[in-house]
Amino acid sequence: MALEIPAVELAPGVSLPTIGFGTWQITGRSAYESTRAALDAGYRHIDTATMYGNEEEIGRALRDSGLDRSEVFITTKLPPSHAGRERQTLEASLKALGVDFVDLWLIHWPPARGKSLPTWIALLEQRDAGRIRSAGVSNYDTQLVDELVRETGETPVVNQVAWSPAEHDPKFLADMRDRRVVVEGYSSLKNTPLDDPRLLAIASSHGVTVPQVVLRWQLHHDIVIIPKSTRPERMRENLSVLGFSLSDDEIETVNSV
Ligand code: NAP
Repeated sequence: MALEIPAVELAPGVSLPTIGFGTWQITGRSAYESTRAALDAGYRHIDTATMYGNEEEIGRALRDSGLDRSEVFITTKLPPSHAGRERQTLEASLKALGVDFVDLWLIHWPPARGKSLPTWIALLEQRDAGRIRSAGVSNYDTQLVDELVRETGETPVVNQVAWSPAEHDPKFLADMRDRRVVVEGYSSLKNTPLDDPRLLAIASSHGVTVPQVVLRWQLHHDIVIIPKSTRPERMRENLSVLGFSLSDDEIETVNSV
């Protein structure tokens, strides 16, 4: 099934599908089966990390899916405790995933003081060596992003951060937009009260579910979504968020849930 998922260009020839599949806390057989199901459902962007311990299963699912490597965007992340061992860590990720490169490599969260800049430089070296197609960060505030740019002239293409209605921060979004950093939002479903009456009313008026409203709301704010589920019906639900749109009033309501 080929779904039309809009993409955002991170760099020349590097297109990030705005809907991805999150894989935190899915390991072993479940990681393999969930990734197979997600690819069958139409996801073409998989979000993993060294820390998740599931890269091998994801790689196997990718190969068994029959999809070409070029059809699936893969993100993985460097644990900050591996600062100084970037190349070895990436090599282990590539080996586990069974691929020659990843599309996006992120610093999972800011390394200890003084290590953020050398770690960022190490990511850029791996990009220049062709082992990653783009480099970004996760859980960075604006000041930390600015430090990297000031010192290297290179802007992280993505900043992956927690995002839900309660965490909505227009100033941060504007800061990232000004710097041309794409924001990816994680744990949006987990961190939202899915029984909130305001969200239920919006969902009911569109004939959709509250998770779909939350995910659609993020896309409205140009935030890339990466919902995780082990259930194929929910994977499809989370992918089916482009067939309706929210009014300005509804967006305002969700902003303040
Ligand atoms: P999430 O995707 O917001 O929520 C996942 C939870 O919601 C699971 O319990 C899932 O249960 C449930 N769920 C999924 N779809 C649903 C639906 N349609 N209706 C009802 N419940 C639904 O949380 P997350 O896994 O924390 O975040 C998403 C991804 O972001 C992660 O998997 C990971 O890839 C990434 N992440 C990154 C960081 C970071 O520091 N960079 C941190 C956390 C997460 P079932 O599986 O039972 O469906």
